[in-house]
Amino acid sequence: MYFRLARRFLTETDKRLLAKAIWTLGVKGLLSVHKHKRRLKRGEFFPPFLYMSVINSCNLRCQGCWVDVGAKQHKIEVDAANETIRQAKAMGNSFFGILGGEPFMHKDLMKIFEQNRDVYFQVFTNGHFITDEVATQLRKFGNVTPLISVEGTDVISDTRRGRAGVLSQTMKGLETALKHKLLVGVCTSVCKTNLDDLVNNKWVDALIDMGVMYCWYHIYRPVGPEPNPQLALNSAEQRKVRQFVVDTRATKPIIVIDAYHDDAGNALCPAATGFTHHIGPWGDIEPCPVIQLATESIHDDRPLAETFNNSEFLRDFRELTAQNTRGCVIMERPDLLLDLAEKHGARDTTVRGAVAEELRNVEPRRSQYQPGDEIPERSFVYRWAKKYAFNDFGTYTRHFDTANYRDPDVGENQSAAKQPKSDLPVLH
Ligand code: SF4
Repeated sequence: MYFRLARRFLTETDKRLLAKAIWTLGVKGLLSVHKHKRRLKRGEFFPPFLYMSVINSCNLRCQGCWVDVGAKQHKIEVDAANETIRQAKAMGNSFFGILGGEPFMHKDLMKIFEQNRDVYFQVFTNGHFITDEVATQLRKFGNVTPLISVEGTDVISDTRRGRAGVLSQTMKGLETALKHKLLVGVCTSVCKTNLDDLVNNKWVDALIDMGVMYCWYHIYRPVGPEPNPQLALNSAEQRKVRQFVVDTRATKPIIVIDAYHDDAGNALCPAATGFTHHIGPWGDIEPCPVIQLATESIHDDRPLAETFNNSEFLRDFRELTAQNTRGCVIMERPDLLLDLAEKHGARDTTVRGAVAEELRNVEPRRSQYQPGDEIPERSFVYRWAKKYAFNDFGTYTRHFDTANYRDPDVGENQSAAKQPKSDLPVLH
């Protein structure tokens, strides 16, 4: 399997792009994590991976979207983006996730990529704006991987994304990116309506046949102004996705990303561990894309290093979350976020100004934290990579107390030790 994966990388992508990814994303990415660990030991903090939503506008209206896509367009201008990247680079960072809205609606997005060729960008996109011209430029720059979202079959995609013909346009963008030999990924926010269609071998085999090099399964988070909680997966369904991810990693020649588990299958939240934080279209520095609360901005006068190191709000977010759960705080304990916002006088970073009400309306449900059902990695490569570069960096050992954990499936005041075991197999 590893041989087949290596052969795919060598024969199906542009060698120059591959070399650039190995160096900028692989080697420099590992170094940035190393620097992050050393900072933590010194009692300092700066997240090694930053996500930036560069624009709020989007051509689609997806279910469960938390961005004010219909509001007046606002974006992070090139100078502000470049300055943020420059300051993050000075801390050792080399990878940036670019989100929106739809990032390719930012008319100067290419300038940001072109002017920062020594770092690597992953663009979360619906693929609709990936034309031959765009793909040619991305190939020339060599520092961008499009991560194209596919949310189901034609009918499901149209429903999930609020418009007819979405899937065919997405597939056209995907094919264009692949035709230009870009390193391309496909991501899916897994929910009730696409679980059966996209979390299976047939779909992954189709991606491999197309030339897709990696896929990323998110779990649908019922947040924002129209959360559609009926789409959210239950515990058994989430465990099914986790098992599928672990099995696919061990058996298929494609990289599978998930951001919620360490090598032993222990759940984690990448914002609570400080692995990443997020910058919104207005420049607000938020714990993660779906938690639209902030006390600081990239437009503040002080340097970014100082902001991250000294932010009481972000530190409290990380500690409070980790004290109560290893899972997703907005799904399990939205009440904690309301307390946190009140304590720090955090501002609602949306145009709609309804985050507090939306948090009050969240129905708590289990997230990636499934106590007693940890599914360890089967693949030794992922085990090694996660052991070194993607784990909790001691966060939960320092803060998590199972006595604080409230299981949404059981109700309040239940400790983790009392949770039922699942009947899904755990592969060792
Ligand atoms: S709070 Fe939830 S959505 Fe945000 S990074 Fe953590 S697990 Fe992901």
